[in-house]
Amino acid sequence: MDRRKVLSTSGAAAVAALAGCASGAGAPAMGSSSSRAVFSVAQPMLPIAGSSEMFPVRRIYCIGRNYAAHAREMGSDPTREPPFFFQKPSDAIQFVAVGTTADHPYPPLTKNYHYEIELVAALGKGGKNVSVDDALALVYGYTIGLDMTRRDLQRAMGDEKKPWEIGKSFDHSAPMGPLHRVADVGHFTKGAITLKVNGVVKQSADLNMMTWSVAEQIAKLSQAFELMPGDLIYSGTPENVGPVVPGDVMQGSIAGLPTLDVKVV
Ligand code: MN
Repeated sequence: MDRRKVLSTSGAAAVAALAGCASGAGAPAMGSSSSRAVFSVAQPMLPIAGSSEMFPVRRIYCIGRNYAAHAREMGSDPTREPPFFFQKPSDAIQFVAVGTTADHPYPPLTKNYHYEIELVAALGKGGKNVSVDDALALVYGYTIGLDMTRRDLQRAMGDEKKPWEIGKSFDHSAPMGPLHRVADVGHFTKGAITLKVNGVVKQSADLNMMTWSVAEQIAKLSQAFELMPGDLIYSGTPENVGPVVPGDVMQGSIAGLPTLDVKVV
């Protein structure tokens, strides 16, 4: 192969793509099939337990205040108001291998960094306006996740009626373990969910205490967004969220899954 010819062709394609963007003359957002990206961007993926295959992650949706006692500690009314959602970027995932303790960087800007232990559902199929009865058929697998939160920033933005991004959607804010296939572990509608810090139990509840079940969350989300394969859903955290500081070791557990172990550094 003539390497110079390849390089010159790829340079021309890049220039064409940039020109297309700059002109704004109806250039397709995804480019033509012959155009090339000027650089590559990593596709976030999660390992699948018991498999050599990987699960590519598209979006991360998170439900807010989905356990009544946690809604109360956040200062809101735990009546069954419609669920609400926010997103984390998919590249906020910090994968934590089973049997290891991952170093998790204490993030900038915060003085009140909180854990939230959550069951995470991973969708292998998509859909719009999915019924509650059909919703669990979309789920490919589950894992344990931490919805790490810069609580001081989240609260400050909430008080000003501004978006939560800076409190919720920062780098490394989504530590999680490998996916466990429904075919291997079934669905999680009940069972203990626990978070320990330095060996002391901080959060302890049962998945059956969710205000909105995973199936109901999927149904509601699919009314607002077309769900797609690769979407993850953090299903909410129980009460007794609290702070960690560098040196603290967190261990998350959900009955039927291996623990998630993270050290704040
Ligand atoms: Mn959460």
